[in-house]
Amino acid sequence: MVTVFAGIAYLYFSRNVPIKRIVLPISLLAAAGLALTMLSSASKGHPPWFFVCILFVSLLATYRGVVFCSSCGQTVRGSFLRPAEFCPSCGARTQR
Ligand SMILES: [Zn+2]
Repeated sequence: MVTVFAGIAYLYFSRNVPIKRIVLPISLLAAAGLALTMLSSASKGHPPWFFVCILFVSLLATYRGVVFCSSCGQTVRGSFLRPAEFCPSCGARTQR
């Protein structure tokens, strides 16, 4: 739980792109683990498979949609199919 919030907070407040590249998948995985734990306890150990699929797909979409600005290090959340191409804060091209 703490890992998820710390990770997301770090992504929003830090400008350190190399570290954010590591923090992003870790906090996404932690969020997935948390959601799976809640799902399986809510369903007494048998989470419905479609919920697990939706969870997996939305995590993947989040991961694909997030880019970091190469110039100022801002975390930019775009959509799944079209990640933001330019940084909203400094206007530079974003990179993964
Ligand atoms: Zn920028």
